[in-house]
Amino acid sequence: MPREQINILDLRLDELKDALGAINEPQWRASQLHQWLFSHRAASFDEITTLSLPLRSKLAESFCIKPPLTEKHDESREGGTPGATEKLLLQLPDGERIETVLIPGPNRMTACVSAQAGCPLGCTFCATGQMGFRRNLSPGEITGQVWALSDMLQKRNPEASITNIVFMGMGEPLLNTESVIEAVLNLSTRKYRFSTSQRKITISTVGITPEIDRLADTGLKTRLAVSLHSAIQEKREALMPQAARQYPLDRLRESLSRYASRTGEPVTLAYMLLKGINDSEDDAKRLLRYASGFFCKINLIDYNSIVNIKFEPVFDSTRERFRDILQAAGLQVTIRKSYGTPINAACGQLAADSMRKSDNL
Ligand code: SF4
Repeated sequence: MPREQINILDLRLDELKDALGAINEPQWRASQLHQWLFSHRAASFDEITTLSLPLRSKLAESFCIKPPLTEKHDESREGGTPGATEKLLLQLPDGERIETVLIPGPNRMTACVSAQAGCPLGCTFCATGQMGFRRNLSPGEITGQVWALSDMLQKRNPEASITNIVFMGMGEPLLNTESVIEAVLNLSTRKYRFSTSQRKITISTVGITPEIDRLADTGLKTRLAVSLHSAIQEKREALMPQAARQYPLDRLRESLSRYASRTGEPVTLAYMLLKGINDSEDDAKRLLRYASGFFCKINLIDYNSIVNIKFEPVFDSTRERFRDILQAAGLQVTIRKSYGTPINAACGQLAADSMRKSDNL
């Protein structure tokens, strides 16, 4: 029976070192190979001309090189962004599908990437949460999303490039911290063809406190955003049952404050306004109290209507009143409009639809 090949893009650098050791190759070759794979983006071992022919064939016996493949491309010009918001549905070698989105903004081009196929946390407002959990993504599968978006962008305009990366796609990044850290390193290695500053990479979490602490200790300079959505414990538990119960607001605040001190960057408190749920004056005052006293800023987000999920966006006047309460107390507040509603830009909608079709559900 032919031996199953490992997709070499799935390996972290330390695993690549071990893999080379296992075939009696010096470990320093791992960095050389990594550069070919993640900077030059070699599509086959034959392209890696600095390796000897025997080594190339040895690698080809045990490994394959399979980045994610684009299965579907959608775009929307109606989402309130300066250009089109574009979403790719990518197929992974084992048939799983994930989404990645390109969001243009003034002076920036942001890649929104997924960290998991599906998600185990089941937040009540989220399409991915309704899919359930499929699996964690490898570092290469996360990095490959940025490549796919970058290729799409540069095909149209060779001068254009991705400037920012946000982990706000499918899944909870801090339930897949190892791969996320490795992908951040892949995407911020200075000498690599695609490289961005770690300060332009934002990891968005529901608030997995031990992992926030761990991330703070890595020395990475990535920014952190937390999906707060309510500063009232019971309300938060109703919206995000698993995460909020396991990681209560008080404990979360300690981790966020520590992260901000370690990185010297404000933590973003993402607050999605839901009509009649978390949009009252009292909600704003509770948020104000929660956010006071540590280095943070608040991002008020419009709800993206999702089929089969019964929440509604707030009126403009409600959003403005909510913002004014926070700003009057000196907090930094931004408003993020709902991008790409016509192409189902809320995380998981396109993939959920595709998985339903392929699973005949
Ligand atoms: S909001 Fe994030 S953490 Fe919650 S279910 Fe959706 S993907 Fe998972």
